[in-house]
Amino acid sequence: MQMIRVAIAGHGNLGRGVEAAIAKNPDMQLVGIYSRRAPEQIQPLHAGTAIHAMETLVGHTDRIDVLILCGGSKEDLPEQGPQLAALFNTVDSFDTHARIPEYFAAVNAPALAHRKTALISAGWDPGMFSVNRVMGEALLPDGATYTFWGRGLSQGHSDAIRRVPGVAAGVQYTLPVPQAVDKVRSGARPSLATREKHTRECFVVLNAGADAQAVRQAIVTMPHYFDEYDTAVNFITAEELRQNHSAMPHGGFVIRSGNTTDAHTQVIEYGLKLESNPEFTASVLVAYARAVHRLQQMGQFGAKTVFDVPPGLLSAKSAEQLRAEQL
Ligand code: NDP
Repeated sequence: MQMIRVAIAGHGNLGRGVEAAIAKNPDMQLVGIYSRRAPEQIQPLHAGTAIHAMETLVGHTDRIDVLILCGGSKEDLPEQGPQLAALFNTVDSFDTHARIPEYFAAVNAPALAHRKTALISAGWDPGMFSVNRVMGEALLPDGATYTFWGRGLSQGHSDAIRRVPGVAAGVQYTLPVPQAVDKVRSGARPSLATREKHTRECFVVLNAGADAQAVRQAIVTMPHYFDEYDTAVNFITAEELRQNHSAMPHGGFVIRSGNTTDAHTQVIEYGLKLESNPEFTASVLVAYARAVHRLQQMGQFGAKTVFDVPPGLLSAKSAEQLRAEQL
């Protein structure tokens, strides 16, 4: 078997997830982890994995078939994505939805100029949920699409509560409202306000002497993050936080309901229940790395999104095998 040589740029939660995912794909070989931090600060899952400084990537272009970018969407990818797409075939999980068109353009130009293939914004949302939103709309043009998230830990909202004066630590979970999900599943096509779709639940550790009531008030009224939601704030100890809230679960549903005639309603549902958001996201990135390698071999250069990739290219199986087994 011709192995696909994959490397990881950036070793946080997602980078660790990519290591684990590559180990589950026998046609993939992890050839190295590249980080901006000193090698002794990086602990790979498997001893023996080569750790390199990010600056050395430029000299390693002939060792790597696909580079998986595991940096953060806010600060890292806007810089790393375009730079590295000039040197490597890449896959990333850029998830700032409003900035995807701008990011696509920034990655597309260097990738095209250097005949590289760069798949942006893979993962689950954006990613698998996006594919399912497009499928739903195309198959049921007379309909409505709903995305529910949770129960899941939101990194952005958890960061926001940690910045409230008096808060020592904390996490935030997003939960879909069950009545809203049921209504959508019934095919009723309800129009739902933000508050009716999701609730938020916070687990907060206070600093010594902090005023719990003031902290609660600051959280539930925080503009953009909590003011449009019903939010529950629970105060817990640092020990409880460590024991019960260290995992990174997430998930949700994309539901399309529509009518093919006035007499018939059709409902399509795609759901995810993830014990580890970064590990699942990483599994998606690794499958798309296989597709990117194949697109590159077919001469398809430039930036791509999940909408541009036929599902068969994600599979380790051949087209013949897929026709025989899965069609
Ligand atoms: P992390 O904060 O864990 O890692 C981001 C980068 O920070 C790493 O690549 C690493 O770069 C650096 N870093 C990691 N740990 C440390 C540390 N202890 N000290 C200093 N620097 C560190 O982010 P995640 O891996 O959790 O997430 C990455 C991105 O994935 C998110 O920004 C999000 O946008 C995206 N994502 C997308 C999803 C989707 O569905 N599309 C779903 C989930 C996440 P380096 O090694 O170079 O220092």
